[in-house]
Formats: sequence, structure tokens, C-alpha cells
Amino acid sequence: MNFFDETSPDRINETLMRFLYGRILLREELPFSDEELRDSAAVRSAGVLRVNGRFVCNRCENNEQQLFASFSCFRCKRESCHYCRHCIMMGRVSECSELFEASSEHETWPVHNSSLSWEGTLSPWQAKGSEAILDAIDKKGELLIWAVCGAGKTEILFRGIEKALTLGERICIATPRTDVVLELAPRIKDVFPEVKVSALYGGSEEKDCPGQIIISTTHQLYRFKQAFNTVIVDEVDAFPYSYEQTLQNAVKKAARTNALFIYLTATPDKKLKKRAETGKLQHVKIPRRFHGRPLPVPKFKSSWNWHKELKKGKLPKPILNWLRTLQETDRSGFLFIPSIKLLETFLPSIQNIFPSAESVHSEDPNRKEKVLRFRNKEIKLLVTTTILERGVTVPKLDVAVLGAEEDIFTESALVQIAGRAGRKADDTNGSVTFFHHVKSEAMNRAVRQINLMNKEGGK
Ligand SMILES: [Zn+2]
Ligand SMILES: [Zn+2]
Repeated sequence: MNFFDETSPDRINETLMRFLYGRILLREELPFSDEELRDSAAVRSAGVLRVNGRFVCNRCENNEQQLFASFSCFRCKRESCHYCRHCIMMGRVSECSELFEASSEHETWPVHNSSLSWEGTLSPWQAKGSEAILDAIDKKGELLIWAVCGAGKTEILFRGIEKALTLGERICIATPRTDVVLELAPRIKDVFPEVKVSALYGGSEEKDCPGQIIISTTHQLYRFKQAFNTVIVDEVDAFPYSYEQTLQNAVKKAARTNALFIYLTATPDKKLKKRAETGKLQHVKIPRRFHGRPLPVPKFKSSWNWHKELKKGKLPKPILNWLRTLQETDRSGFLFIPSIKLLETFLPSIQNIFPSAESVHSEDPNRKEKVLRFRNKEIKLLVTTTILERGVTVPKLDVAVLGAEEDIFTESALVQIAGRAGRKADDTNGSVTFFHHVKSEAMNRAVRQINLMNKEGGK
């Protein structure tokens, strides 16, 4: 029943509040008139505050003074109006900006009974993770899902999300990377066809009121406040989330008071590991891939003085052998290199013997297109920096790292890189080779970690 006529002030206020619930938005982001806003119950605040002579951004909560700058402002006519550089990519927040918010602590969402439309089955290990999440949905708090690369972590979430929806809850899956949002959103929409699912990332066109399930980059959470009953943080150890305190604060701020936080990762950082191992953080390990086969264990191969050889424009012999072997098979290859600079000097000599090789790195404008061609097998060998250490799944793949002892290849980077191989049920045994001048502690730890998971998964 509709108690309001479409244009009555109550009706407008209701629409406006619904738009704003659980969010903190700039005046410019609100499709309402000043009059409508004035008459609404929305709470307003200044974009940038000065507290004891120090600036604080009210949206991203940044308080690092060097991240504030000033400009001659057209709106407030001040010569130096200060703004936050930290969250500038989401639209400028300055001293004269107005932010609007509406607490959604008590806002209700539709109750969905049996909303999950999925015919698949979980592996025994996945089922264990799924049970832990179901349990956590009741208890709230924090839960770490420590799942090896290729464990099938998306499916692990399905039942838990379904249960949260039967309670009329709102759920967010946050990830540091846009490609994950793009990959995940259609899958979630597919299995929850009745529920409104929104994908949020830099440049996404979501002008409407976002849905009951949000798939978002962690950055987009700056715009949320007290919105979610459950926040799932995917790849909790990945850059930039793991390095930026403000992103971690944004995740906390986006959650309601008594919320559940689920952290997903194959490679928890030291802090998470320690909290899990000392019993301070509830956790469940998924040491086996969905197909039931163990993780490929990296092999170390000495490539003495590889640096010097490359400088002379020569390919080190062990690499040459690896390339030749790859060439004779129907497999694809990933070759990881420590830096973009090395990548550029190194590529021509590879292409000499391997004409279909391509390179890709973080600043490459054709990155997406090349990865697509690689997936389609038009490119047989992709030489790359660590940007492809996560997320890319290609069948029949062998992986190698040149200069595995370099600092950029941390334990978790090496575990993620090794985790690219053998992910498909019909090809579980890709090879992983670490070429090195000397062995690093990170290399040893990565192999130890993989062996440990294989042992636990074999029980
Ligand atoms: Zn800010
Ligand atoms: Zn101003």
C-alpha cells in the first residue's frame, strides 16, 4: 500500500533517505534539490575539518597533513580552500564541500528465503569453509578463510550469503582489485537472480541506490558508512589494502555496529597469521584445491650471474632451455621478471627465439587486451612483472620466475605465482621453476608453505 503521493514531502524524504542510507556522499553526488535536502532528515557535515589546527577528511578519514593541498576556490571564493588529495580520485572533498549521510543502523532490507540458485557441489574442503561461514553469520565478529590458490573460494561464500539474506541483511564483498569486481559481479548476480547486486569500482555507472549485495573495490567503501551486516574482504593481503590504514578504516566504517568481517586469502601476512595461530582470530584452512590435487611445488634452478648475462644481451642457458621445452609443447608460459626495466631489455632476445612472446606490465596501456589474447592462446608466452601474480587462470600453464631471489618476490608473491599453475581439473600439474643466482629466505619459505598445505590437504 502506498501512503504517500509521489510528490509529497514525506515521499521525497523517503526516496532521498533510501538513496542515502549507509552512505556518505558529496552534495554533487545527490540528485536532489537544495530544498529537498533541507527538508530531509539527512545529516550534513563539512568535507574537510580543522581539528586543533590539523586537517581531517570527513570522507576517507585521512589526517596526514602532507596529503592536504589548497587551491583558489571558485565555490567559497577563498584564496586557499583546503582539499584532501588522498581520496581525490573519488571527486574533490574540500573545506567548503558538504557531505550528507544517513545512518542505516536500523534500515531494513528484504528477507529472501532460498535465494541461491546454484546446482554445483562443494568439495569436502570447500564444505568446511562454507560451514564456518554459516556459523559466523550467526556469531558475527571476524573469520579468516585461509584458502590455497585455486581452492574455489567464491563457491565457499554462496551458502553464507544465502543465509544472511534470509535474515534481511546487507552484504559487501570488497576487493583491492577492479578486475576481481568485474569477474565476481556476474557470477554473484547469476546465483542470486532475485537479489539486487551492484558492482562498484572507479568509473562504474551506478547512479542509483546500490543493492543489497555490493561487489566493490575497497576504495569505493570510502562512500559507505554503517551499511553492511557482513563485509567480506577478498585478498586481504593484497596491495593497496594491506598497506593503507585508511582503506582498512573504510572497511570498518562501512560496517554496522555488530557486523561480521570475513577475510579471504591464500597468503595471509604476518599479522593475520599470528592472530590466527595464537587463537585471537577465528580461522579455517582450505589446504586443497577444488579438484582435490596438491599444489605444484616450485623447483629451484640455478642461473648463475643471470643479471650479467642479460646485460650482455644474452639469455641465460637455463632460461633458454626452459623456453625451448615450452616451445615444443602445446602449453602456455608465464615468465616473471623483477622489473619493467629488465623486462624491456630482455624481451627482444626472447622474441628472437620465441616470436609469439609478449610482455605486459602495470603501466602497459594494452594490458587487458594482451591478457585476453593470452587466455585465447594467441600469445603462447607472456613475460611479465608481478602484476599478474594474482587472479589470472589459464589452462595448461607452466610458470617460471627469473631472479626469484630479488626483493620484489616476497614469500606471498612467490606462493601466488606458483598458484597460477595446475588450476584446471584436466591439468593439475603445471610446472613451476624459480631461476636464481642465490636462494633467498622468501623462496625457501614459499616452498615450505606450499609443502605444508599439501601435507595438510593429504590428511
Ligand atoms: Zn579524503
Ligand atoms: Zn572552497
